[in-house]
Amino acid sequence: CGIIGYVGPQPALEVVVDGLARLEYRGYDSAGVAVLNDNRLETEKRAGKLANLRGALEQGPRTADGIGIGHTRWATHGAPTNTNAHPHLDNDERVAVIHNGIIENFAALRPELEERGCKFVSETDTEVTAHLLSQELKDRGDNDLAAAMRAVCKRLEGAFTLVAMSVDNPDLVVAARRNSPLVVGRGEGENFLASDVAAFIAHTRNAVELGQDQVVELRRDSVTITDYEGLPAPVREYHVDWDV
Ligand code: GLU
Repeated sequence: CGIIGYVGPQPALEVVVDGLARLEYRGYDSAGVAVLNDNRLETEKRAGKLANLRGALEQGPRTADGIGIGHTRWATHGAPTNTNAHPHLDNDERVAVIHNGIIENFAALRPELEERGCKFVSETDTEVTAHLLSQELKDRGDNDLAAAMRAVCKRLEGAFTLVAMSVDNPDLVVAARRNSPLVVGRGEGENFLASDVAAFIAHTRNAVELGQDQVVELRRDSVTITDYEGLPAPVREYHVDWDV
């Protein structure tokens, strides 16, 4: 239902959880985050209110590099449980994915992934995308997360805003969209992406709206937007001058 991604010098966990709080008005049944810590993907996710996630995050000392993604879920496939909450990981825990929308052809994609040894742990339509990205990265052998995202998106049917990060790309958040919103917030030495500008308006009002079937590569100092073929895409930049 709600999405935020961050790359920059601020503590990622705080930026992401605050962003999720600003998206609460949209309604949701679960919330979760992924950050990179010491070359490992760390996720925390909880059914129920954001307070449940905050409580879980307070359990232990937790620092994070300046990169993270967060999600509030409105369940369409699979009950609102901790396991079905996003992010979802591949079995090697090298890729984390969050998703708004519905992957209509998830059931058709699942058998080939199971044949390749992927073990599904949730009941969501979303989880296929974590395994697809992982398999695509293995097939490519080059850790190019954006290229893998383009290849995966071409196989998906339905409506999605899909966001991914990986252990092998510690400075990068990649996102794609089809029939579901995605906006980038450009900052100074930091960048944001979200389903809704409300998530990052406390940090920047310079927004870029992604068009249909586009992919964005978000780094501290750059925002690169392409179509699913990898060609540069026309972008619409604007200033958010209203209050949220
Ligand atoms: N279809 C996905 C799920 O049920 C995403 C739902 C959403 O947009 O939050 O997990």
